[in-house]
Amino acid sequence: MKKHWEYVVVGSGAGGATVARELSMMGREVLIVEAGRYEEHIGTFKDSLRYFETTGYRTPRTSEEGVILWRTIMAGGSTVVSCANGTRCLQEEFNDLGIDLEGEFRKAEREMGISPTPKSLLSDASLSMGEAASDLGYKMEPMPKFLDFSKCVRCGCCTFGCMRAAKWTALNYLADALALGAEVLYETEAHEAIVRDGKVRGIRGRGKKGYVEIEADNVILAAGALTTPIILQNSGLQCAGKNLFVDTFVNVHGIAEGLNQAGEPPMALVDHEFHDEKGFILSPHINVSRTVRFMEAGRKGFMMPTDKLVGIMVKTADDASGRVYPDGRVSKAVTREDQKRINGGVEVAEEILGKIGAGRFVVSKPQGTHVGGTATIGTVVDGYLETKVRHLHVCDASVLPHAPGLPPILTIVALGKWLGKALTH
Ligand SMILES: Cc1cc2nc3c(=O)[nH]c(=O)nc-3n(C[C@H](O)[C@H](O)[C@H](O)COP(=O)(O)OP(=O)(O)OC[C@H]3O[C@@H](n4cnc5c(N)ncnc54)[C@H](O)[C@@H]3O)c2cc1C
Repeated sequence: MKKHWEYVVVGSGAGGATVARELSMMGREVLIVEAGRYEEHIGTFKDSLRYFETTGYRTPRTSEEGVILWRTIMAGGSTVVSCANGTRCLQEEFNDLGIDLEGEFRKAEREMGISPTPKSLLSDASLSMGEAASDLGYKMEPMPKFLDFSKCVRCGCCTFGCMRAAKWTALNYLADALALGAEVLYETEAHEAIVRDGKVRGIRGRGKKGYVEIEADNVILAAGALTTPIILQNSGLQCAGKNLFVDTFVNVHGIAEGLNQAGEPPMALVDHEFHDEKGFILSPHINVSRTVRFMEAGRKGFMMPTDKLVGIMVKTADDASGRVYPDGRVSKAVTREDQKRINGGVEVAEEILGKIGAGRFVVSKPQGTHVGGTATIGTVVDGYLETKVRHLHVCDASVLPHAPGLPPILTIVALGKWLGKALTH
């Protein structure tokens, strides 16, 4: 392995794999440093315990205030466990910041194969929900997904990783980058950037055999919004770590005799109509694993029978009120405004579920899967995603200006493409 690289990219998720691929396509010399393993077997709850971040005895990680924080440490990052939802978000906000992503969005949508979920994949429960929503004057539409629908076997287990490889993940782009000559170090955790005379010189961290130091002309941090700010803080950029959002959501589960929602890709439909005014979206969703329901809703969640279970996720664009500290602690509360958005969504979700005959509702704990905002443009990075340390860039959800309240992968991928182009032109 070489000692000195033109580019080191930290993390191989949505942002990291995309920018590494773009740089490799332009003939640049790239090393990807990835804390997680390349997982050969994915797709079951048991598998997922290896890569989802947990604390203590297999309990999910939470903020100090008790909000569950879901993310994975693995090659491909959290894209591997996504629901494959691919919608544009924050395009106008990036435009206002001088970053025009239109061309990158189009390219990404083509490459990822994004198209609306076909009716044939919907469960009876979601079909009924779509009709009930329409009768009530609401608008549930097919969710656009980066999923090869012909390979989907309707197991409902997208969030454990797809064992049929039906879903686009950052591993697709990582494979392209490696085929183009990039190299990768798995199970190697970056801790800080080496900085001299205001310029980045490489990274320090820990690999399988202990301490590692890698020299580089350019470093791009893409370790995700809970880790990138820690690396920045360790590198002298104390301004990182504030403004954390997680797109706080709750799942409203209910029991409906004769309806089974388990056999469909999660979040197959979506209602966006309240997003701008009330700050929430609704999407049919149940957790097929009782243990996951136990984690998010306690005994009541565990006791609910999966074969009669129906549910809707209420996802909000929450306040960027959280913070990541240098020792890894995360503070993220549900603010009064967040609670208002959640309550508004739960009310409509229960109305729709009630209309299809569901009852005995259980609302889960607040949780988040879209962590971001901890190194935003204008505070920690400039309009080229560069920090005040020269040639030290950030390209992951940390730079998103505020909570999207919508799936962010497509936007992060577009941003990775944009940065790759900006760095090589
Ligand atoms: C269960 C679940 C479902 C989701 N579903 C969707 C969805 O359907 N659509 C959507 O748009 N979004 C979805 N998301 C959110 C989406 O996955 C994330 O917003 C997105 O992956 C963030 O991209 P990123 O590049 O910031 O981080 P990631 O994709 O998480 O990548 C970060 C990478 O850095 C690595 N890493 C971490 N620390 C270090 C370190 N110190 N050194 C080196 N490497 C490190 C990690 O292992 C990982 O590979 C979902 C998330 C979860 C958890």
